[in-house]
Amino acid sequence: MRRSRYFLPTLKETPAEAEILSHRYMLRAGMVRQASAGIYSWLPLGLRVLKKIEQIVREEQDRSGAQEVLMPTVQSADLWRKSGRYDDYGKEMLRIADRHERDMLYGPTNEELITDIFASSVKSYRDLPKNLYHIQWKFRDEVRPRFGIMRCREFLMKDAYSFDLDLEGSRIAYEKMFIAYLRTYARIGLKAIPMKADTGPIGGNLSHEFIILAETGESEVYCDRELLDHDVLGEDIDYEDATSVRAVVERHTSCYARTDEKHEQAIYEAEVPEDRRYEGRGIEVGHIFYFGTKYSDPLGALVVTPEGENVAVHMGSYGIGVSRLVGGIVEASHDDKGIIWPDAVAPFAVGLINIRPNDTASTALADSLYTQLQTAGVEVLYDERDESPGAKFAEMDLIGLPWQLVVGPRGVKAGTVELKRRASGEREDLSPKAALVRLTG
Ligand code: ATP
Ligand code: MG
Repeated sequence: MRRSRYFLPTLKETPAEAEILSHRYMLRAGMVRQASAGIYSWLPLGLRVLKKIEQIVREEQDRSGAQEVLMPTVQSADLWRKSGRYDDYGKEMLRIADRHERDMLYGPTNEELITDIFASSVKSYRDLPKNLYHIQWKFRDEVRPRFGIMRCREFLMKDAYSFDLDLEGSRIAYEKMFIAYLRTYARIGLKAIPMKADTGPIGGNLSHEFIILAETGESEVYCDRELLDHDVLGEDIDYEDATSVRAVVERHTSCYARTDEKHEQAIYEAEVPEDRRYEGRGIEVGHIFYFGTKYSDPLGALVVTPEGENVAVHMGSYGIGVSRLVGGIVEASHDDKGIIWPDAVAPFAVGLINIRPNDTASTALADSLYTQLQTAGVEVLYDERDESPGAKFAEMDLIGLPWQLVVGPRGVKAGTVELKRRASGEREDLSPKAALVRLTG
């Protein structure tokens, strides 16, 4: 993409309304634009990141055996009346009436709808287990939308729903999702801590929130430092083998972690030696939990057991805040010049800068590098505008592409280009050919 043609409305001034860094950087880098309170439009640069995250989430859900569907954003109130949540959900639900005065709503979540889909087509234990997910926009009329896309009213969520014959089946589904979550965050380049969460009236221990560490986060984190060193991508995982899945989950829950619930304080102090305690803040980017027959009972999701009995299926639900993750990554990965995108989710891999577009030799070399990178399938943003080098460097640092490739007259004479790694600031002069090998290899 040529920078001169790209829609990248960056801002020089820091927007006054933005309270936290990720919001400021995302506005300044032209990634999103507020449409109204807690509702955002995604501009080309931001949308690229959102799509990359979405794709990693999708691949890890698929790998674990979940299947993608797509449910609508607008739902009828009928099913929500059956589950009792039409009244319980309160003001966070956006209620709409259609032209026939029928009660509709913009979905804040999808338990009712997926349970209804399941109930109308699955009748036997033989069709279990199933795990269905979608990646769809949600609306929650939050009391105080804030922090840009981190706590907004319209946001993109991945939500999965598991269906099993009994608690033991649900536990296996839960543990697969647990691992899929750890893998997802690790691939994105984030360290996520699985924290025991409140299960409410259902009880048991099948509820975890996944928190990424960031000082500006809304959640308090107390955990064993050892948890920070666990690496799930290095582990061999066979989703078909429940025993090996459980072993991995146990390794990642062997170290104690808790949120700020008071009753957990004593356990934390007893289990974690003082010198291993990590206490900080973080952002909730996912939540998984088991809720048994809470929706299958009222919505009639029954299956026949091998013994010929009709029973309500056991369910769990598993959410990831896909759009919140974009802000979470910026909170976790930046410096005072701007964003530092992890490679896996960067909007472009390379920012190619021609510092002297009116120099024929520089432009010939930069053009040729641009073509060669594109041919090799590397995503590149090519800044060929007639702007000051300082302005171009500042913008590249702000938008945070992992590599900057700089072409200028002095280098052209010496037969070199400069390759800079955004994260470390490390620069290296090398031949154009060597640079290409580095970026395409
Ligand atoms: P929170 O405590 O932050 O309000 P929640 O418990 O209401 O979250 P869930 O219903 O578990 O959230 O939703 C799953 C995920 O969706 C959350 O872990 C979070 O990452 C994301 N999410 C929830 N609410 C919002 C929001 N208002 N804006 C952006 N993302 C959100
Ligand atoms: Mg909430």
